[in-house]
Amino acid sequence: MPNAKLRVAVIGAGAFGGWTALYLLRSGAQVTLLDAWGPGNSRASSGGESRVIRGSYGAKKIYTHMAARALLLWKENQARWKRQVFYKAGVLWMAGADDSYERASLAALRDVGLKAEDLGHGELARRYPQINFEGVPWAIFEKEGGFLVANLACRSVVEEFQAEGGEYREVAAEVPHVETRLQELKLSDGSSLSVDRYVFACGPWMGRVFPDVIGKLVRGTPKEVFFFGPPAGDTRFDFPELPVWADHREHFYYGIPGGLGRGFKAADDTRGPDFDPSSTDRIVTAEGLKAMREYISFRFPALKGAPLVESRVCQYENTPDEDFILDRHPRAENVWLVGGGSGHGFKHGPAMGELVARCVTRDQTADPQFLLARFRDRAKSTGSE
Ligand SMILES: Cc1cc2nc3c(=O)[nH]c(=O)nc-3n(C[C@H](O)[C@H](O)[C@H](O)COP(=O)(O)OP(=O)(O)OC[C@H]3O[C@@H](n4cnc5c(N)ncnc54)[C@H](O)[C@@H]3O)c2cc1C
Repeated sequence: MPNAKLRVAVIGAGAFGGWTALYLLRSGAQVTLLDAWGPGNSRASSGGESRVIRGSYGAKKIYTHMAARALLLWKENQARWKRQVFYKAGVLWMAGADDSYERASLAALRDVGLKAEDLGHGELARRYPQINFEGVPWAIFEKEGGFLVANLACRSVVEEFQAEGGEYREVAAEVPHVETRLQELKLSDGSSLSVDRYVFACGPWMGRVFPDVIGKLVRGTPKEVFFFGPPAGDTRFDFPELPVWADHREHFYYGIPGGLGRGFKAADDTRGPDFDPSSTDRIVTAEGLKAMREYISFRFPALKGAPLVESRVCQYENTPDEDFILDRHPRAENVWLVGGGSGHGFKHGPAMGELVARCVTRDQTADPQFLLARFRDRAKSTGSE
């Protein structure tokens, strides 16, 4: 095997780093995976309980393709683990007056063979009487989508990685000084690591680890997530009676059905101010809760007044165009930068891991949509920096 002796370190064991480490290992490399606080920890973007997996991406077809591949890999891997992390709840994607995104999504979904129905207003009201479809002329129902159990999935990936022969260490990498090829990485326990290639998948920390190359291109922004509790015995808002839903109109709200011991989850996808993932307290705001209660009372009227049973504050790690980053460090050909999940990266974890492993072991270049040059080219064409 040509890459049997290639030694690779992956820094960050979140959705991107964990799967990357696993697929590097499976492609024959010797892999060390590091994480400062552990896979799917409370500060990480991959932390928390649940994530949507859907293929609707409007005209950004690359993600519909990746989601289809990822879905296959999620199913294949969970069967290997004998542990369920994917729940096929279906995804109901509601269109608004401007439905160009949904029309493009529907075409792309059908292109890649993901089953998708277009449901008119009357059919929606008949199938889901627990939802008020005011302002929703039609919706896509992605039969094969659903949700993933995030923290369990991250831990499962690392357990599998170790079981297949990978080395995992809970330690932080110090900020590397990269001028040319990276020779060694200093670690927070005083040791250092010297390998052939380094993959940094540090989520919202990428800008701090590479202030000159990434800097503000990856911005952490807070995300408040609310869980509401229907009365005992009312299962209308639980899996499998309710699918994952997305209300994609002026304001993008989305949620995941309750069940599995958790309440009905709802979040507002709007981006907020900058957020420090290491040191900020994670407490939801009164305004955020009030706005969510108003929305829920409108769209899910029976949940009006339902108690808030849990809440979380997480962060998205956004790029300006919300596309991922997968590229080499411009000054060091043995350093790879992976991140910018931008609020939609989790589902793609296995497909992204497979892709990163291919790029790193075979010296391939990723799709131009993921390269850092796109930011420079765009800055040049607009005359901005
Ligand atoms: C509330 C919320 C809801 C979301 N919903 C969805 C969804 O429904 N569907 C979807 O597909 N995506 C969703 N996303 C986005 C998705 O979860 C993220 O894009 C994805 O998890 C990012 O993974 P990552 O591996 O890049 O980053 P992270 O998960 O943050 O992983 C980075 C890891 O690097 C480690 N690290 C950082 N610095 C160092 C260092 N110096 N040394 C060692 N380790 C270090 C951290 O501890 C961390 O574990 C959501 C995100 C949030 C926050």
